[in-house]
Amino acid sequence: MDLGIAGKWALVGGASKGLGWGCARALALEGVNVVMVARGAEALNKAVHDLRLETGGQVQLIAVAQDITTEAGRDAIWNAAGGPGKDHDIVVTNAGGPPPGDFRNWDRDAWIKAIDGNMLTPIELIKATVDGMAARGFGRIVNITSSAVKAPIDVLGLSNGARSGLTGFVAGASRSKIASQGVTMNNLLPGKFDTDRIRATLPAMAQQQGKTVDEMRAFHHAQIPAGRYGSPQEFGAICAFLCSQHAAYMTGQNVLADGGAYPGTY
Ligand code: NAP
Repeated sequence: MDLGIAGKWALVGGASKGLGWGCARALALEGVNVVMVARGAEALNKAVHDLRLETGGQVQLIAVAQDITTEAGRDAIWNAAGGPGKDHDIVVTNAGGPPPGDFRNWDRDAWIKAIDGNMLTPIELIKATVDGMAARGFGRIVNITSSAVKAPIDVLGLSNGARSGLTGFVAGASRSKIASQGVTMNNLLPGKFDTDRIRATLPAMAQQQGKTVDEMRAFHHAQIPAGRYGSPQEFGAICAFLCSQHAAYMTGQNVLADGGAYPGTY
C-alpha cells in the first residue's frame, strides 16, 4: 500500500534506537525525509548512515544530536542545515521515559523532569509546527506515550503521571480547529517492545517481583497474548500508517500496540 507521504518532511525524536528509530526507518522507507534526533552523536550518526544505505539515498536524512527536552536542543532542530525549519509535515514526539522507582523517593525535581520530558516537550514541538501544518492543509502528529496511560504500572509512576497529562492535552487539542485543516494528532501506546528501554527497566521489575531478569522476561512473554515482546519495526509500521494519507479521518486516538496485553474490551 502506498502511504501517500513520499517527499514529506518528518521530525522524529529519540530516533537513534528503539521505537523512535523504528518510526524514522518506516517513514524513510516510505520516501519521507527525516530529521532524526537523539543526544548521543555516535549512535545517531550510525543509525542515519545505516538508514541511508537501506533507503539507497532516496530520501534526505538529517542527524541532530541534541537533547530534545531543552529549548536549546529544539532551536538546533529548527535551525538544522538542510532541514525544513519548523515546516515539518509529520512530527513524532519521543524521548527517553522517566526512571522506574518508588513514588516515596521522587522529589519535585524528579517530577518536573518527567513532566518536562514526557508532557511539555511534545507540547512545545506541537506548538512550533502545528499552525504551519494547518496552513499547508496536511499534518500528522504522533506522540509515543505508553500502554501505562491505559493500564498504569506501579514502578513507572513518573511516566503514568506525565504521559496522562499529555494525553489529556492531545484529547482537546486534536479536536480543535486543526481537525478540519488536514491535521491529525494521535498517541501511539507501546506495550512491551524489545528495546534498550525495556532492558533497563527489567531489573527493577524483576527485583520487585523476586525474580531474575530472565524469569521476568519469560513472565512478561507469558502475560502477552502474542507470546513475545514487539519489535521496533512493527511499531514503526503502525506509526507510518498513522502518518499516512489513509489515516486522515483518525484523530485524537490512543492506539495501543501491545500484542493484546491490555485485557479490556475498549
Ligand atoms: P530506547 O530504546 O532507550 O531509545 C530511546 C531513544 O531516545 C534513543 O535514541 C535515545 O538516544 C533517545 N533519547 C532519549 N532521551 C532523549 C532526549 N532527551 N533527547 C533526544 N533523544 C533522546 O527507548 P524506547 O524503548 O524506544 O522507548 C521510547 C519511548 O517509549 C520512551 O519514552 C519509553 O518510556 C516509551 N515506552 C517504551 C516501551 C517499550 O517497551 N520499549 C513501553 C512503553 C513506553 P540518546 O540516549 O542518545 O539521546
